[in-house]
Amino acid sequence: MYSLDTLTEINFELSSFCNAKCPQCHRYDIFGNLQKNLTPAHLSINIIKNLPLKKMVNLKTISLCGNFGDPLMHPELDQILDFFSTKEIKISTNASLRNKEWWEKIGKNKNIQITFCIDGIGEEHELYRRKTSYDKIIDNAKAFIQAGGTAHWQFIVFKHNEHQIDEAKKLSISLGFDKIFFIFSDRFDTSNTWKVFDNNQYLYDLNVATNQTTLRESLDSPIGEKSWKNIYKNKGEISCFWSQKKKIYIHSDGTVYPCCMLGSIQAGQSDKNIEKLLYKRIIKEYKNIDLNFKSLEKIFKSKTFKKNIPESFTGNPLSHPVCIEWCNKNTGKYIKELNYVNKA
Ligand code: SF4
Ligand code: SF4
Repeated sequence: MYSLDTLTEINFELSSFCNAKCPQCHRYDIFGNLQKNLTPAHLSINIIKNLPLKKMVNLKTISLCGNFGDPLMHPELDQILDFFSTKEIKISTNASLRNKEWWEKIGKNKNIQITFCIDGIGEEHELYRRKTSYDKIIDNAKAFIQAGGTAHWQFIVFKHNEHQIDEAKKLSISLGFDKIFFIFSDRFDTSNTWKVFDNNQYLYDLNVATNQTTLRESLDSPIGEKSWKNIYKNKGEISCFWSQKKKIYIHSDGTVYPCCMLGSIQAGQSDKNIEKLLYKRIIKEYKNIDLNFKSLEKIFKSKTFKKNIPESFTGNPLSHPVCIEWCNKNTGKYIKELNYVNKA
């Protein structure tokens, strides 16, 4: 199931530091404070340089994305990009970082594709991407595109920015983006409104877009109730789409996960700790998946990746709640989410 020679993509969380404060980001709690259990870190460049690239004969893509931080925060990013210069590199960023000269330099690399997360035009963008600068992002995008870079624009549609969809499509063409795509947030768990806080101070509401059907609504879960109950009630067998695509995720602390959704259990409040404990029941010890203690080859060859993780998909000794939530064939978010993308 997992081996160096069949692996096609590695998704790295290079850093769990971030300049932004997006209200629904996993790095913050609902009151806008850094998650208590998150220790921000940059992934060690030595871990990256020790990866046996020569044995990964099918490795095509390096994705730099992450759950808790922005890849552009990593101080040794340029060296990391050089290390993967023979691979296709896909970076997803808030892009309100670094200067125009850096963006121009990066734009000259034909193997690098950047997804700019721009959720609206002008002030509307900054209602979700809090603490970023729309003007700086557009300047950076221009520098990157004019230098020859391939740029994608990802736009999360909310009620407050849905009127800008057509304008954004036109702007993306005039700026030279290769494509623009629209998605909805899947984080309106219990209601169609999200109260935005900063350091415990209430600021304003975010609301779902007019055309959005949330997971909770699609499962007929009442307001105030997480969709858990209904996800479980009608769940089907688990189909692990990351392992089918031969992809893995490496967290900024050096731990290796079968996907980025499972990697998101690294931080969080008490309910997330339960997820961590349940994952420990599957992998036995976090050291078993930690590149600070074992090579990737040893991790793949270990009982953890050969037996324990694959068997967990069939419920032995348990299927992790994140796998049920995302990948059960009847009510999983992944199945549902396919319908969300580009519906805006
Ligand atoms: S830019 Fe990304 S990592 Fe940073 S706060 Fe926003 S969603 Fe989280
Ligand atoms: S959530 Fe579980 S089943 Fe789904 S892709 Fe991740 S590891 Fe695989």
